[in-house]
Amino acid sequence: MPDAILTHLPEHVVAEARALDAADPLAAYRDQFVLPEGVVAYLDGNSLGRPLKVTRRRLAEFVDDEWGERLIRAWDESWMEQPLQLGDQIGRIALGAAAGQTAVADSTTVLLYKLVRAAVGARPGRSRIVADTENFPTDRYVVQGIAAELGMTIDWIEPDPATGVTVDDVREKVSDDTALVLLSHIAYKSAYIADVPAITQVAHDAGALVLWDLCHSVGLVPVELDAAGVDLAVGCTYKYLNGGPGAPAFGYVAKFLQDKLVQPISGWMGHAEPFTMGPSYTPADGMRRFISGTPPILGMLPMQDMLDLVEQAGIEAIREKSIRLTEFVADVADEVFAPLGVTVASPRDPATRGGHVTLEHEAMESAIAQLWQRGVIPDFRRPRGLRAGMSPLSTSFVEVATALAHLHEILTDRS
Ligand SMILES: *Cc1c(COP(=O)(O)O)cnc(C)c1O
Repeated sequence: MPDAILTHLPEHVVAEARALDAADPLAAYRDQFVLPEGVVAYLDGNSLGRPLKVTRRRLAEFVDDEWGERLIRAWDESWMEQPLQLGDQIGRIALGAAAGQTAVADSTTVLLYKLVRAAVGARPGRSRIVADTENFPTDRYVVQGIAAELGMTIDWIEPDPATGVTVDDVREKVSDDTALVLLSHIAYKSAYIADVPAITQVAHDAGALVLWDLCHSVGLVPVELDAAGVDLAVGCTYKYLNGGPGAPAFGYVAKFLQDKLVQPISGWMGHAEPFTMGPSYTPADGMRRFISGTPPILGMLPMQDMLDLVEQAGIEAIREKSIRLTEFVADVADEVFAPLGVTVASPRDPATRGGHVTLEHEAMESAIAQLWQRGVIPDFRRPRGLRAGMSPLSTSFVEVATALAHLHEILTDRS
């Protein structure tokens, strides 16, 4: 009996999960994803989104028709434009960004390096960068490397780890010596949502540029980059945009800033005329100058399918379901897991909470190892956090309840 595990949760919780699925306007989307039997519940859509079934056909057709048949001719026919066209599509569907400001390239880490380096270069005479100690490691390491390279100083915000960076935190650190403020929109550990418009304003009031890392928000939470006056942004496409392992990142540079920035990897694909192969580098106009080498076309294919789906479902509806999913986990945590010593390490106010809920317990590391053996896949965040990341289009409430029922069985066996 597949549902036997659900008896580990109170009946009303299971009934609620079923009712939420029945009332979910986005429920039908789940069947469009590849759902192998061995995966009982997937709570790591914020780390690597599931593939869509249609992506199989897209990849096969690409091999036969585009790569196989068009061969090198496809560069002129479509591939050269693909990083900018796909960027525009991400901008329109998920970022509140008008065309001509978003490009797909590199990994998030490399693109982050390029944009941070370009941004601080555009604020000569300013020697400080504001960043925070709770940001994702790559973001911290990249600014540390750039600060060391250029002799700059980092002013570290130390936010409350259970929440995240506030407007006041930023106000306290910026000065007329700040070149750049680098922050994540949604904290990768707690899921706290930072106030993009207000913090952007604080940075601008100090004459600094701001770069937002959108890895945990793109495709999940509506972002309004143009309206908030954001200067720069980067983000992953293999999380909520389901681009697949190693899918390239996207970068956003506000129109007014593009021709003022010089990015450090001056490769031939960012040249104004790449195929003249001339003696020296002249950056292209607009977003093309932020591209360095040959675009990773294969890695851009799967996210196209997810973008189509996000557009169809609507980012607002996706956000609404995400709130219900995280609220469900937080409520079950209070009722069922708090008595076992589990605490919720994510904001309780849905308005400041992104797509995941972090549950903490002393025994979480070994509990997660057991969950993985059962085909229940959340991820582990040291030292004792279970991160339940729920991608709204591919996750059902009963799936989440099933995962929590397994966790309950494991934690009670132990106590
Ligand atoms: C996932 C994530 C990254 C990943 O960077 P890669 O170069 O793709 O490995 C960077 N920053 C944040 C905030 C992330 O959540």
